[in-house]
Amino acid sequence: MRANEIRISFLEFFAKRGHHLVPSSSLIPKDDPTLLFTNAGMNQFKNIFLGLEKRSYTRAATVQKCLRVSGKHNDLEQVGRTPKHHTFFEMLGNFSFGDYFKEQAISYAWELITEVFKLPPDRLYITIYQEDEEAFNIWNKKIGIDSSRIFRFGKKDNFWAMGDTGPCGPCSEIHYDQGEEVEKGSPFELIESGSDRFVELWNLVFMEKFQTEQGQLLPLPKPSIDTGMGLERMAAVLQGKKSNYETDLFQPIIEAISEESGREYPAGTEEDVYFRIIADHIRAITFLIGDGVNPSNEGRGYVLRRLIRRAYRRGNLLGLDKPFLYRLTSIVGDIMKKAYPELMTSLPYISRVCLAEEERFAHTLNSGLRYFEQFAEEAVTSGQKVISGDKVFKLYDTFGFPVDLTQELAREKNLDIDEAGFHRELEVQKERARQSWEGETRAKEKSFYQSLKSLRITPVFYEKEEVEETEVLALIKEGKLVDILKEGETGEVILSITPFYAESGGQVGDSGILKSSSFSGTVENTFAPLPGLIVHRLKVLSGELRPGQSLSAVVDSTRRKAISRNHTATHLLHASLRLILGDHVRQSGSLVSPRRLRFDFTHFVALSEEEIRQVEQLINEKIRENLPVITKVTTLEEGLAEGAMAIFEEKYGEKVRLVRVGDFSKELCGGIHVKNTGEIGFFKIISESSVAAGLRRIEAVTGEEAFNYVKELENLLSQLVRTLKVSSQELPARVDKLLKNLEEQEEEIRQLKQKLISQASQSPEITIKEISGVKLVAQKFEGLDMESLRNYADSLKQKVGSGVIVLASATDGRVLLVIAVSPDLTEKIQANKMIKEIAQVIGGGGGGRTDFAQAGGSKTENIDLALQKCFDFLHKNL
Ligand code: ATP
Ligand code: MG
Repeated sequence: MRANEIRISFLEFFAKRGHHLVPSSSLIPKDDPTLLFTNAGMNQFKNIFLGLEKRSYTRAATVQKCLRVSGKHNDLEQVGRTPKHHTFFEMLGNFSFGDYFKEQAISYAWELITEVFKLPPDRLYITIYQEDEEAFNIWNKKIGIDSSRIFRFGKKDNFWAMGDTGPCGPCSEIHYDQGEEVEKGSPFELIESGSDRFVELWNLVFMEKFQTEQGQLLPLPKPSIDTGMGLERMAAVLQGKKSNYETDLFQPIIEAISEESGREYPAGTEEDVYFRIIADHIRAITFLIGDGVNPSNEGRGYVLRRLIRRAYRRGNLLGLDKPFLYRLTSIVGDIMKKAYPELMTSLPYISRVCLAEEERFAHTLNSGLRYFEQFAEEAVTSGQKVISGDKVFKLYDTFGFPVDLTQELAREKNLDIDEAGFHRELEVQKERARQSWEGETRAKEKSFYQSLKSLRITPVFYEKEEVEETEVLALIKEGKLVDILKEGETGEVILSITPFYAESGGQVGDSGILKSSSFSGTVENTFAPLPGLIVHRLKVLSGELRPGQSLSAVVDSTRRKAISRNHTATHLLHASLRLILGDHVRQSGSLVSPRRLRFDFTHFVALSEEEIRQVEQLINEKIRENLPVITKVTTLEEGLAEGAMAIFEEKYGEKVRLVRVGDFSKELCGGIHVKNTGEIGFFKIISESSVAAGLRRIEAVTGEEAFNYVKELENLLSQLVRTLKVSSQELPARVDKLLKNLEEQEEEIRQLKQKLISQASQSPEITIKEISGVKLVAQKFEGLDMESLRNYADSLKQKVGSGVIVLASATDGRVLLVIAVSPDLTEKIQANKMIKEIAQVIGGGGGGRTDFAQAGGSKTENIDLALQKCFDFLHKNL
């Protein structure tokens, strides 16, 4: 059975038994901040198990992408060393949400494994939780498994818990015996010790208890089932292999590595481990990038970076000294595309991200290794046998060596590293970065605003642009509360009710006017130093302002409209880019101002002209359709369930605001939008550029600004039309013609220069001498450039046949010098050696080959002396 058939028969088996088939969720958990990566099939159902969410079905089955490189489940160290542990793997699972329980789950598993997959029962062993008599009886009595093949284990192995509190329960595992030839011994002990002879195929978790914060175990009202079977392990067993790496899921990758490196697999040496690590990591790398992770120095991005660097270094050890992983991503694509068709569209992107990271690392690996050697030697000679934290940090910081790489290198030399010391250095650097970024004043500012948190402010910016009566709650000047702001002064004001939108989510803050019968001032900007604390930057135009005073507040409505046009356009842009470029496109930052919008997103290559045109066309179409923009407040779960795009870096509270533009775009967003897309009028991209590896930026304008932009282009065009005196249609042809003329004239100038040289060669300034039978031709010019000198030296050399040619020219206040030596003489006279001496005379430097060298210097007055030195040089050396 090929892996793909295993996936399909698993899903079919459970679909026939009333299970709802749910697609794999992303490797990046959607709304679980406690989890870096999806590491089990049950992750995406966690809220159902917790009773927080309901679905239309009570049974489900999945094939789930999993990654176990961090947190509670971290198998990184085992990868490559065991035949059955991977970083990335697929977990086949069936789930019951308060539907069937233990007996049914066990029967399903046994039926699938022995009747569909046809595994011989005498190869199978069962483990159960020591106190789970119910499970024992089902396996023993109902299924008919001899008690000698059912092993009881303790809490560590056979009791599962979601966390310190929450659902938990005993579990039961099905193990496969690979045979005595792998390892002899008692099955119980071998399973306990994790021997390669036994493969844990399937784990069935019986969620029947709930652990309270006080540590009590209460019965769950609706016991549930969560199971997980490793696809790679099942494939190995069904394909009669002892190792997952010999299955069709890995073989093509192994073969490609073998081809790239010219090494055999298996070779029975440590190199086999490198093969397996690369083959394992490349799958994780491909899927991580496919799910939107970019290599970086933090969080998920750092895990990806480490995987790429670990794999790259293993390639290095196999003799590969250039990027190669990026090519393997397409092989992973080939193997997995049937199950994950979305991979195909993102493969080019994935391979580019991978290549860029490989190149970055390849660049510093060698110099880093040199430093490492030096550090290692110092550690040995000092007798410490430990590489200190600051050195580990230097390798990390300067050469991008992940700590585990340094650790590995150290281990190879029987050395240790000071990991704690490294983390201290890292903290120091982080603190430094934070301070220089935030500045101490910022920190102080923050604590000042903290003291104003209790002010009760009613924001009405979604509903209104004007408030007739609002009260001054506080006045601030230069970071201090004040009692008065006088005419001409600038400060900050906090209002009881405000129609002003404070800068957030990329949208700039509102501006406008505050007014009463005795006072007027302009709000220049609005911001929220703390969530909910809306602060207006105010300039007092007339009168004075004191706390408690009543005012009217009016937002600059024209500006607000321009901002909202750009904000809605940003949503249209986001949705359009995903449609046109693919689902890997994700917002990574945005700025929405009245004049323009800026949108940063993940995508590797520059957009083609055609793609830009498509995006513009699609957005303008949506504008003409005059789609309604509808907002509603909902919970984060519901918003996500409705398919709204959420920005990963953004932090969402309990309640979120869902902004829907027709059926075209859904985003969680707190910003201000137009009512109908028609208000945007016209959308135009004005630039597309790169921000960082894998990050692009689009800037665009809408409405009146877009009109102005087109108008400006038109003006530019008419200016050109006037200068060149042709119609705009004829412009391209005209410019082509001008460029051609220019080229012809440049050629003419070149020829004239050449002529000048040949005339010069008949000038009296030429000196021809014979020194010890060697002909020397020396000549002085004015105003020739280096290229002309070189050309002339070449032609002279041909004319003279055997000899030394020295040409000098005083040009633009500098001396240019060229020396050519015919090939028969380079044994005795080397042009590059000779020019080094002469160059000193003209106050400069130079170099070249033995038969040809050039130099430049500033001492034009020494040009004759330089030629004289040439004679001297020949006298001395011949
Ligand atoms: P093991 O003890 O072998 O590491 P586990 O107890 O960590 O496995 P579970 O957390 O119960 O495994 O996961 C369910 C199933 O997923 C396992 O029975 C196994 O088939 C598979 N699995 C778990 N970890 C890995 C891994 N690192 N690589 C491949 N398959 C795995
Ligand atoms: Mg494990």
